[in-house]
Amino acid sequence: MLSHLFPSLVDQGKRSIMTNSQHPETLAVHGAHRKDSATNAVAVPIYQTTAYQFDGTEHAENLFALKELGNIYSRIMNPTNDVLEQRIAALEGGVAALAVASGQSASTFAILNLCRAGDNFVCSTDIYGGTWNLFANTLTDLGIECRFVDPADPENFRAATDDKTRCYYAETLPNPKLNVFPIQEVADIGIVFGVPLIMDNTAAPILCRPLDHGAAIVVYSTTKYIGGHGTSIGGMIVDGGNFDWEAGGERFPTLNQPDASYHGAVWTEAVKPLGPIAYVLRARVILLRDMGASMSPFNAFQFIQGMETLPLRMRAHCENATKVAEFLGKHRKISGVIFPGAQSGLHRERADRYMSGGYGALVGFELAGGRDAGRKFIDALEMFYHVANIGDVRSLAIHPATTTHSQLSAEDQLASGVTPGYVRLSIGIEHIEDILADLTQALDKA
Ligand code: PLP
Repeated sequence: MLSHLFPSLVDQGKRSIMTNSQHPETLAVHGAHRKDSATNAVAVPIYQTTAYQFDGTEHAENLFALKELGNIYSRIMNPTNDVLEQRIAALEGGVAALAVASGQSASTFAILNLCRAGDNFVCSTDIYGGTWNLFANTLTDLGIECRFVDPADPENFRAATDDKTRCYYAETLPNPKLNVFPIQEVADIGIVFGVPLIMDNTAAPILCRPLDHGAAIVVYSTTKYIGGHGTSIGGMIVDGGNFDWEAGGERFPTLNQPDASYHGAVWTEAVKPLGPIAYVLRARVILLRDMGASMSPFNAFQFIQGMETLPLRMRAHCENATKVAEFLGKHRKISGVIFPGAQSGLHRERADRYMSGGYGALVGFELAGGRDAGRKFIDALEMFYHVANIGDVRSLAIHPATTTHSQLSAEDQLASGVTPGYVRLSIGIEHIEDILADLTQALDKA
């Protein structure tokens, strides 16, 4: 039945099962595309089309009868997006992925794919302010309870779990605290209850593969490092294919019970010929179909261009960020530097365990002069951009208390690590001497 209505998904499912053992640098350039099947084009073409012409009634009939494979409608599938999806799934070690319109829609779908009104999920307090709002307000209004817990102690996830808990959610490298999340520790608690861990890996692509550490699902804002160029908003959901939704029994009715919105399909059954893609397939054919937060093929093309240099860029970002953290640590006007590589104890152990090739490119610091000095510093920057963004090739700076986290109460701001004098830097790939020169002159004026 599934194949009858969405024949190309069978093809997608089969092609998406990645067993590729190539290195990230190679997958980022070659993954899931050799040449365009229609034109032999080497670059992935932008298939900027809504629908796909049936050659005739026989072709249409064959598509619907699964005698031939092909696309039907771009809200739920598109050949350009397909390459991006497969490439990111390969980089993450997942089995399939779904491109969506933004990081926000990726996290929304990631939760709605498992939770219905009356259900709950347990979430780290250390998350992006926009995700916090989505979970604490919008999803709560829909009857889905988000139980925020401090990730410093993984046991907090255990304590908050009950039989209505559908998943755990966290960020690998959450700003502003930049304490790397205990992925395996929480995933292991999830195994006891049969609860999957969803990781937002936006700040640590290439550096961390959460699926290798027990996570079941990875979400991205591709808007950030994956694009890198700062031109496009997008999101991605990667299915690890490693979670047994059938064994979860009553915990996962959206996946292992008949789906009334799809002629009674049981997704865990329907995907059996395709591979372990029940989660991501349902996200596509139910959530994307119904809510329509599709990534435009043009943006998918942009992300494909960005991804080709992602491993190189991450290396450059990390090298620069480490040097910036060292510089700030010695500066007389700075009372504290927040950077995984500058930590010690448990947080440093986690950073070393889960990140490889660098500690990311986010660097926080506290100016001894507090809020006023923070504002003066930001206003004095000449090369750094003052923007609400991270993960751009350009160096960026922001004062979270008055911007990204301003919609949170003062109490919630502090819980997420935002003090009044905190400044966040997202270090770009410019020459390190120019980065340090701009920081030096702005600090002189702070
Ligand atoms: N996740 C993280 C960690 C983010 O930093 C952001 C945006 O800043 C998002 C998700 C949301 O992504 P988008 O802006 O693409 O919706």
